[in-house]
Amino acid sequence: MTSSSSTAVSLSTQQENESFEDSSSDNPLDSGKETKPPDLTLVPSDFRPSRIEPLLPAAPQTDDGDKETLHHRLFDFFINGREQEDFGEEQIPLQPALLSKFLGKEPVRTDFPLWVAPDPKTIPDGLFCPVSELFSGAIAEFAPEPEASRILKDSLPVLEEHLQQLLLQHPEPLNFDPLLKDAFENAKKRFGLSGEDASRFQEDLQQLRDRIPRKGFLLRLDQHTPLHLLANLLKALQKEKLESFCTEIQRLRHHLQELLQVDRSKQPEHRQSNHLDSALGQGTRFINTSELSGVLQEPATLMLDEKRRERIIRVLGLLERFEETFLEHDAHLLVHEEGQPKVCWEEFFPNSMIYPVLSGKGSLEAGEVCIEVLAEMAKFFTALRIARLEEEDAYQMESHDRFFEHFDWKMLSEEELQLAPPVILIENESTLQSADGAELAELLRSSRPVKVMLLKNRTLPAFVPPESDLEAGIGQLRDSLFNFRPEPGYFAVSQRKALVLQSSPVRLEHCVTGMVEALQNPLPAMLHILTPDAETREGVDPFLWSGAAIESREFPLFLYKPGSSKAWGSRFSAEANLQADTDWPSSELNAVDENHEAVTLPMVFTPADFAALDETWRKQLMPVPKALSDDESLIYLADYLELSREDAYEHIPFIWQTDQNNVLRRTVVSFILVQICRERLDFWRLIQEMGGTHSFHALQAAQDARDELSIEHEAQIAEMLETHAAELEQIRKETSENAMDQLAGALLGMDFDVGMPSGVPAPDLPPPEIPLEETLVEAVIPEEEEEVVSFDEPWIETLRCTSCNDCLEINPKLFLYNGDKQAYLGDLSTATFQQLVIGAEKCPAKCIHPGKPLNPDEPGLEALMDRAAPFN
Ligand code: SF4
Repeated sequence: MTSSSSTAVSLSTQQENESFEDSSSDNPLDSGKETKPPDLTLVPSDFRPSRIEPLLPAAPQTDDGDKETLHHRLFDFFINGREQEDFGEEQIPLQPALLSKFLGKEPVRTDFPLWVAPDPKTIPDGLFCPVSELFSGAIAEFAPEPEASRILKDSLPVLEEHLQQLLLQHPEPLNFDPLLKDAFENAKKRFGLSGEDASRFQEDLQQLRDRIPRKGFLLRLDQHTPLHLLANLLKALQKEKLESFCTEIQRLRHHLQELLQVDRSKQPEHRQSNHLDSALGQGTRFINTSELSGVLQEPATLMLDEKRRERIIRVLGLLERFEETFLEHDAHLLVHEEGQPKVCWEEFFPNSMIYPVLSGKGSLEAGEVCIEVLAEMAKFFTALRIARLEEEDAYQMESHDRFFEHFDWKMLSEEELQLAPPVILIENESTLQSADGAELAELLRSSRPVKVMLLKNRTLPAFVPPESDLEAGIGQLRDSLFNFRPEPGYFAVSQRKALVLQSSPVRLEHCVTGMVEALQNPLPAMLHILTPDAETREGVDPFLWSGAAIESREFPLFLYKPGSSKAWGSRFSAEANLQADTDWPSSELNAVDENHEAVTLPMVFTPADFAALDETWRKQLMPVPKALSDDESLIYLADYLELSREDAYEHIPFIWQTDQNNVLRRTVVSFILVQICRERLDFWRLIQEMGGTHSFHALQAAQDARDELSIEHEAQIAEMLETHAAELEQIRKETSENAMDQLAGALLGMDFDVGMPSGVPAPDLPPPEIPLEETLVEAVIPEEEEEVVSFDEPWIETLRCTSCNDCLEINPKLFLYNGDKQAYLGDLSTATFQQLVIGAEKCPAKCIHPGKPLNPDEPGLEALMDRAAPFN
């Protein structure tokens, strides 16, 4: 439905132009238009701004004394929010930096004008379509390549802008086709093309014209748009839901009429001669009706029971009123003739029953009208249910009489309630008085299928300090802003029973889908709709104004559907908001500095940025004097809002704005606006939590689960460490005993089965088998240092001896062979340390280890120990 939506739009309009050839698809948008990720979805994503990037100037050199004076004045503005003071600089209009690319002179493509189908096949997809999508979809059919029909593609914003201008002169919906012709002629004149370009442009316009619907009409965006959307939805929905219902009513009426006709034919007077005379007419010239009457026999079947006949006549009478009950009016509307918007309600809603109401009385009267309508519905559906039973010959007097005697609207099924024309109260902030609050709450809790449409055309609080005493006025405003704002949408949610939509036509799909849900749902509903009026535009495109209100969290979107699920959280959705999981939508602004170097500034969009679009509130924003642009007390508003009140002291919050020359300026946000930002942030966080984002309870549950897992994990690790330590100790003990045994054996010249005359950890032994889970533990345990076993005594690794005889030649009493002719140490008292070292050096198997000198007085020990070291 919108450019950012994937919803299809079926065009069912019959084309008047004979040259029109229907495409293979009903949907001109199937081929889609190019999209790119938007920075902020304030306007459709295919808008290509042509403006250059803004300039970020450097801070000028200024005397410190001057800076201090300016700083005090700036801080004073922040605290008091007085009118902008003269800082000796030219006062220039500023605009929010993130919107600067949309606020130029170039036309901005939006979802308006909006085309409305006269006879849609599907609702709401086929009912509304932005003209921009009609154009882009049609062009994609005959010029899908990017460079094809370039002039036409580039002229689309101009065509759409011209349609907008035409609609501004005529606020009521206008027929599409004459406007389209006008826009084409205007484009041809404006571009002044000639030659081949002019011919190609003409051909492309014709192709475009041939592919878009001629019927239907166009809507502009203003305070009346929600009413037009509602009127068209009522008409289309009522028609759609009554189509099959009409057929059933006709069938039942026909059946009951037949029953009565047959019954009449069985009555005795139908066999009398005077009745036959009138029945036969001219035929009496040939038939004697007196004789015929005498021979006619009693009917074979029984006549209707008197009570049944009366019941059928009564039911038929009620069914005969079907057209009056369901088709004459598609809705019952309660409106304020004195309030805003001032419209001719009969023209806006030609098929609806209009009830004027007084301010403050709307809810009460809507409840009463709804009860009357429901009573009529109960009577009609009683008749319908009886007719169905009669058709089946299944009416049981004893039970059904009693049942239908007590039948009222509360016994209607959901389907029956959905068929009833809705009762709708249209309010706005000026007509919905606080005195009406209790009645409104009762209405929304009543289970009656009454709908309240509350139109909103301002978002920021009214800022009208009395001119006579500006300071006192600002003081009062500051005080009042400590009170949180009333939120009708949230108020309606708190009644639990009502479907609540908070939306705006600028988020077309969200708005229309929610309205359809509300109209089709038999529950009460509140439609809280933001729509710009002429006063709030102030030169700002109404689409942009409304989009900025939504994206700044001033007016967040949401939908609450009670009864859709048992779980409360699943009934509430705020996903339609931009970057719904963050406090503020953020984007990066590309700029250039004075040296033409690219600079990227991260920015967020807040109510203070939105306030810059409002003539009264923008006075609460003060451009920072150029001399103070590097002042250390300045802090970006989003960061300021994160500070505690203590930390915020002495800081001055600012936002980024651009001037008419596209130069970036820091702008101080007054304390009043900061309060507004805090209040909106609080409300937004409430909406987030209700929608399941950053839900305290969900986060707490997740943390509890993590803590539980962590405790379990730590216990497992502790157990594994304990097991590992025990295993390690056991291995160490066994290894040490084994080594000591073997060492002792080696020293005593014993032969070992294991063949390891060594006291060192056995290198050739297979590693002890340790269960897999314990090896996992080892991975997380710092490896303990192996105990190094060293020996001062000389020794020989007997099993490795190759029997070369070299050592025996040095000292045959020291080096001896065993029975296997492998060397071992003999009488150490005959040995010198030098002989042991020489033996070790000579031994080809490197199995002689000299140890340390036994005689400390042996000469040259220092050098000998150095030589011995590699063999120990
Ligand atoms: S020198 Fe080494 S290999 Fe040769 S006999 Fe002596 S211990 Fe054995």
